[in-house]
Amino acid sequence: MPPLFACSSCGVQIERATRSYLQQKGQMLCSTCLDRQEAAEAAAAGPGAEGPDGEGATAPPSGDGGG
Ligand SMILES: [Zn+2]
Repeated sequence: MPPLFACSSCGVQIERATRSYLQQKGQMLCSTCLDRQEAAEAAAAGPGAEGPDGEGATAPPSGDGGG
């Protein structure tokens, strides 16, 4: 059973191998904080990761002439 470490960001108890703890220099992050960190790094890398948004045009009403 791996030991418990405290997330260096939010402090939640997480199970991590001592080896990982040493590799991360004690900067252990829980999965939630990891996702947030990755998202922040992606945002810092530069905006425009996704394609331009040009949606918004409303479709014209289908003219159905009654009889
Ligand atoms: Zn955390």
